[in-house]
Amino acid sequence: MKPTRDYVQRRFDEFNAMCFGGELRPIPVRLSRARSFLGQITYRRERRFFGSGRNEGFVLRISTLFDLPEDELDDVILHEMIHYSILSRQLRDDSAHGPLFRSMMDDINRRFGRHITVSHRRTAEDNARDTAVRQHLVCRVRFRDGRSGLTVAAHTRLLPLWDALAGWSEVGEFRWYVTRDPFFNRFPRSKVVKVYRVDDAELEEHLRSAVPLMREGNAVRALR
Ligand SMILES: [Zn+2]
Repeated sequence: MKPTRDYVQRRFDEFNAMCFGGELRPIPVRLSRARSFLGQITYRRERRFFGSGRNEGFVLRISTLFDLPEDELDDVILHEMIHYSILSRQLRDDSAHGPLFRSMMDDINRRFGRHITVSHRRTAEDNARDTAVRQHLVCRVRFRDGRSGLTVAAHTRLLPLWDALAGWSEVGEFRWYVTRDPFFNRFPRSKVVKVYRVDDAELEEHLRSAVPLMREGNAVRALR
């Protein structure tokens, strides 16, 4: 399921009452399209004259880029809530997922039959599972030195990126495509030119069903 803010907020409240004795203070929830994390607690460290400072300004961030089963999404929310519990009580653990984190995690897993893990970092397998169908504007870029790669444009930024590539002297050739291949879901949509290295044969394979784009002035049309 794709997380919504309402869903995350509601689960936070329910898990807070059920697993944390209602001790966690309400926290703002922000959704993002990050591909580098599923969930994250961000905060700042306030310096004090005396003592070592306090953790403040907590935000619970959840990425909407991934279509996880509901149970796994709930485990991600719980994982972040454990971090929040530790950080907001100004406790220190030995490491990000140190003994304190693990004992809380094991306790919640045991008492509530959850499957929270210490790492929900994304793997190649997770990427492969990310199969939602979306339309992508993809550019295959070949540099004069033989390297190649791809860039994926934010939909509102196609023309500026097109212009930028045309004016980039190291670029030998480039070609834009529109495609719904979920392979491209994993690349962030760029507002400025960012070229990702991709195996050329693999890229070729995934562009097989893509439709090339042609530009005339400021009009772009698909070449069927
Ligand atoms: Zn963590």
